[in-house]
Amino acid sequence: MSEDHESPEPLEGLRPDTKAVRAGREGNDTALAPIIWTSTTYVTPSVQEGREMASAVGPSHFYTRYGNPSIKAFEDAVAALEGAEAARAFGSGMGAVSGVVLGLCSSGDHVVTQQQLYAGTQMLFQSVCPRFDIEVSFVDGRVPGAFAAAVKPGKTVLVFAETPANPRLDIVDLDEIGSISGPVTAVDSTFAPPLIQRPLTHGVDLSLHSATKIIGGHNDATLGVVSGSRELLDWIWGYAVLQGANASPYDATNGLRGIRTLGPRLRQQSDSALRLAEALAEHPAIEEMCYPGLPSHRGFELAKRQMDLPGGLLTFDVAGGLEGGCRFVESVRVAQLAPSLGGPETLVTHPASTTHISLLPEELEAAGIKPGTVRVSVGLEDPADIIADFLQALEHVG
Ligand SMILES: *Cc1c(COP(=O)(O)O)cnc(C)c1O
Repeated sequence: MSEDHESPEPLEGLRPDTKAVRAGREGNDTALAPIIWTSTTYVTPSVQEGREMASAVGPSHFYTRYGNPSIKAFEDAVAALEGAEAARAFGSGMGAVSGVVLGLCSSGDHVVTQQQLYAGTQMLFQSVCPRFDIEVSFVDGRVPGAFAAAVKPGKTVLVFAETPANPRLDIVDLDEIGSISGPVTAVDSTFAPPLIQRPLTHGVDLSLHSATKIIGGHNDATLGVVSGSRELLDWIWGYAVLQGANASPYDATNGLRGIRTLGPRLRQQSDSALRLAEALAEHPAIEEMCYPGLPSHRGFELAKRQMDLPGGLLTFDVAGGLEGGCRFVESVRVAQLAPSLGGPETLVTHPASTTHISLLPEELEAAGIKPGTVRVSVGLEDPADIIADFLQALEHVG
């Protein structure tokens, strides 16, 4: 790794909120807000230096697909919060997921992952991996020991978990993933950013995020990021630079902007989500409430152990099936019907009528999606307004 990927910022010993405000500010001169480096290319002072940069890993002043100062600032900030040696940004969360999977796996290799996954990741494992003769086993991530039991010694090269997981916020034991030796272990931690959960401190090799969601936090950056050891990240970069799913400097700067307020946003969204979950859990029009901060959630104890906050996402099933779900998401007024999560606005999604419309009833069931399942990303509005809005919308279902 070239030395411009070192992080000389004196953040060591500072607490996470302070790091979030100060990280990734190297090379900004005296500007307080990060500078956006839009240049795709950089002048090389000599043939010798050009040759060195062309053969370096992730140089930040050569050609933007290889690296870029604005992208590096975002990467440095994420690495500082994750407690990682290095981080690599991608043009989206799926860019990061496919960069890790296709960067590490070859024909004949085996991957262990879980049944509870983001739909795009599931499609990559189900449809793309077989085309490259990469075998994938899907285990129930909620069952203790399931990942380790599916590892085939000498053949499994990657163990890929997601926690909290789509769509019912199931929790996977990070200590268990971290204790698997042999394959590279990776966790998609999108629903729990580094101020809530840090997979690397549990011995996991790679932590992934769709920074499009909570890290960006303002619905204006399409961005992914992977953190881990420099050695692994250098290897992944070797594929990623050819995959071409590099982040845009604009989006990376928006990602860095989001990081500054990560702590306060997460605390407010967690607090509001808990209040909303408690207010609705016993409502007669709600059949099941899934929120890792409620003792009734299957992963409650595990979440308490490995997450500093239960987060701003919750999922529930409304009465009245498909029609009940449609009526609910069309009746909210403060909340809005839209995909994605982690922004200032409370959003609701109804997978059975939108993202998962093409699935058969039994496929929906296997994915943990019922006809009336609604996923909520709690925003930054006054929680009393969100609760009142949901209560009035629930009057339209059943
Ligand atoms: C959204 C999401 C992704 C994909 O991220 P994009 O930025 O949309 O490509 C991956 N994993 C999880 C858990 C997500 O929520």
